[in-house]
Amino acid sequence: MKVAFKTLGCRLNQYEMDALAATFKENGYEVSENGDGADAIVVNTCTVTNQSNQKSRYAISHASRQNPDAAMVVTGCMTESHLEQLKSKFPKAIIIDNKGKSGIFQSVDSLLKTGHADLSDKDYDLFSYQSFTEMFHTRSLVKIQDGCDNFCTYCIIPFVRGRAISRRVKQVIDNVKEVVALGAKEVVLTGVNISRYDSEGVKFSGLLKRILEVEGDFRVRISSIEPDSFDDQFFELIGHPKLTPHLHLCLQSGSNRILLKMRRMYTISEFLNIVDRVRAKDANFNFTTDVIVGFPGETEEDFQQSMEIARQVGFGHMHIFKYSVRQGTRAERMSDQISDKIKTERSKQMHVLAEELQAAYRSKFDNTSQRILVEKWKDGKASGYNDYFIPMEFETNDKIRNRFELVKANVKNFEDA
Ligand code: SF4
Repeated sequence: MKVAFKTLGCRLNQYEMDALAATFKENGYEVSENGDGADAIVVNTCTVTNQSNQKSRYAISHASRQNPDAAMVVTGCMTESHLEQLKSKFPKAIIIDNKGKSGIFQSVDSLLKTGHADLSDKDYDLFSYQSFTEMFHTRSLVKIQDGCDNFCTYCIIPFVRGRAISRRVKQVIDNVKEVVALGAKEVVLTGVNISRYDSEGVKFSGLLKRILEVEGDFRVRISSIEPDSFDDQFFELIGHPKLTPHLHLCLQSGSNRILLKMRRMYTISEFLNIVDRVRAKDANFNFTTDVIVGFPGETEEDFQQSMEIARQVGFGHMHIFKYSVRQGTRAERMSDQISDKIKTERSKQMHVLAEELQAAYRSKFDNTSQRILVEKWKDGKASGYNDYFIPMEFETNDKIRNRFELVKANVKNFEDA
């Protein structure tokens, strides 16, 4: 039997779908990201912006049209924020929320074999996913944490992912050892707010140190991280041969006044202090980031401060979001909402700057030898990311995949992120 998966949103959603697909595969199912001929389709939704909701609804409708006979399972963050809407729009769909997500194999397997979906979630938790490698991604995602207690005023995530919870240290280390033993070359640590990891008295830097001590030829990448709770031990680990010189450090705004309105847990000088301490150990260290433009009350001056901090840091890549009202968040009730016209104009300006900074950052690597983890090979070209998280390609007739290659790179070898 065949099960298809459609995942939207963050790395955590990707991790959960990859792990579920691995469980289905291990139990004799054909798994795919294409719904043709599938007996069941699992859509893992996202609700972080209005656009994510639209994309999630479209993914479900499209999959149902593409394969009306398949059992439709809808899970993910939209099941927590828009349950009634999903129920009325997709009455035939089986809806399983984030808490029951890790039990989807049992539910779908019983549905396809007995016609009855066992939806009881008595023995599943947020971490009971199996280890896997090379499912839909070459890099091996490892979930270390879920939920968030920060309640930034624009963010819906604490309402859909719940309160912060950390996976036990031993479970994480065993997961890393398993995927490395299965051949993983890159381990990507993921969660909702991983800098707040805290289990059995072990904080994020303590866990990271233990992961870096695991034997094997692999590298560790930290997915998105909040610029708070960085301790001295973390800075000591910068430069470790296994730790990739790249952090996706979420800035959101360059104005302290707006950071306060967002209820972010740092100031601009604290953010820049992290950048300086890390760059003191590796001047080429790659910082990528998320920035919101058009947050309620954002003046032209605040916006120009965001542009200025972006220039100062020289981000290697920027995700730019136009502020999107999320129902139920504190920012929704703020009176000084910004017009779409201004949001669009600021987003355009920030995208132009982001392109310039990205090109300037990548040019530093011109004609230098880079270690690439090859993820794809096509028409005589292999492609993947270097340690600094720059997408690269080089010519070879060797159909390699999931292997490190040391290669001389230049700008034209780079492909867009
Ligand atoms: S830290 Fe803020 S933005 Fe990030 S998930 Fe938590 S509430 Fe949302």
